[in-house]
Amino acid sequence: MNIEWSTVRKQDLEEAQLRHASGAELSERDERLLGRRESIDDFIGSHCFYLTVQPMIMDALEEVLMRLPDDVLEMLMVERDVHVIFPEETGNTVYALNTVVPNDGVSKFSTRQKWFVVLAQYLTKGPHPRAVGTIAHELAHVVLEQAFLSSTHSQSEEAQADELATQWGFGEEIEESKR
Ligand SMILES: [Zn+2]
Repeated sequence: MNIEWSTVRKQDLEEAQLRHASGAELSERDERLLGRRESIDDFIGSHCFYLTVQPMIMDALEEVLMRLPDDVLEMLMVERDVHVIFPEETGNTVYALNTVVPNDGVSKFSTRQKWFVVLAQYLTKGPHPRAVGTIAHELAHVVLEQAFLSSTHSQSEEAQADELATQWGFGEEIEESKR
């Protein structure tokens, strides 16, 4: 079954978890919602680095991860191997970059390109939709392989990232993030 992830809300995941916890028989939709919950927890546990824990940022990131289409989430986690970083000391810029990370001696690949989205403290001041829109926009740059450090983003790259994030269902939040 296909789930319209752009319309899923946090409450939907919580309700599926409650049904699961109560031992109720789960629908296919519930199973998918629980699978998404696992993917989000996996992502946050292994692909996020932050020196300060900001519940507001984590909420926004969780919401983006919850609402992304299946294939996009898969691509971000597996192909792009994107990591989200939220440094304690930052400038006012949020950006995406890629780099080749040397072999860790464990991975199958000798070297592997990873992507990073670097967030900034100003997002914690709210509002929530601005943080959601900003994170979705940066993840769109990652999918489009538009790294900030190799070249500053052109206006057309900015528009492409906004358009892609809007296709994913973040149109309102993208508008909010441009204010
Ligand atoms: Zn951008």
